[in-house]
Amino acid sequence: MLEQAYAKINLTLDVLGRRSDGYHEVDMVLQSVDLSDQIWLERLDGEDQRIVMESAATNIPLDGRNLAVAAAQVFFRKTDIHLGGVHIHLDKHIPVAAGLAGGSSDAAAVLRGLNRLYQVGLSMEDLATLGAEVGSDVPFCVYGGCAVARGRGEQLTRVTHGLRGWVVLLKPPLFVSTADVYQALTPARYSSVPTSDAMVEALQLGDISLVERRFFNGLQPVTLEMYPEVAVLKQRMEQVCGSRVFMSGSGPTLFVLAPTQASGQRIYNAFRGFAKDVHLVRLLQAEEFH
Ligand code: ATP
Repeated sequence: MLEQAYAKINLTLDVLGRRSDGYHEVDMVLQSVDLSDQIWLERLDGEDQRIVMESAATNIPLDGRNLAVAAAQVFFRKTDIHLGGVHIHLDKHIPVAAGLAGGSSDAAAVLRGLNRLYQVGLSMEDLATLGAEVGSDVPFCVYGGCAVARGRGEQLTRVTHGLRGWVVLLKPPLFVSTADVYQALTPARYSSVPTSDAMVEALQLGDISLVERRFFNGLQPVTLEMYPEVAVLKQRMEQVCGSRVFMSGSGPTLFVLAPTQASGQRIYNAFRGFAKDVHLVRLLQAEEFH
């Protein structure tokens, strides 16, 4: 069985404060794009429970630290399935530690896939609840499309009639740890008023230049200070394409919005000289997600 695990970008990211449980309170507009990992699941029948994972990717763990394995563990525990297990094969295409929620998306795909494979009949809400135990971005990745994510990221409000268009993603050749970026974030950078309502309005108007003007990412200045080479790259990209360049999540992936495939292709061609990891992708609506 094949499940697609789609990457996400942030159109807004406001950090509102620090919670007593150690997480940050966030308010984000998340949007799926059609860059995906492929997750192949095969049911293993037997006396004991086995979760086996393989992948040609060399830069991720393949044991319980992999979010896909962690998701399978949560699934079997919560559904009281003690016999049999799953073989997970991952074809990795989403850049790792890039601000694109690759690991969370893999976890969500495993939850959706196991639900079908074992015919358990869990609802999407149930799967999202299981996903929240694996990671804060997993619930969004269960549904995909466009949504406002609040709390630590698990409280979702779907955005219907989102923006249609294309995105050029560029992943600079470095890994950024989300935990390190949050650690470097000072309270002075917390938002007092989140920007998601204004962004949702721009998305529903389908006004790409308004979306660009209303983009906000409270982590962007932190990551750019920690990695000045990303700030330099961003400036050069803006000079070359004449559009604003944004950072997704804790970075370092940078992106540009494009209204048409042809305009996206021109930007893609221009950016290929800057890095190896460049992708032209489409914004995905929830209804075309599964
Ligand atoms: P986010 O945007 O949610 O912060 P990210 O895109 O920055 O996520 P990931 O690609 O999910 O980051 O990887 C973050 C860390 O998670 C890496 O250090 C990686 O080793 C680990 N990881 C665990 N499972 C996976 C997976 N299936 N794919 C990628 N990374 C994984």
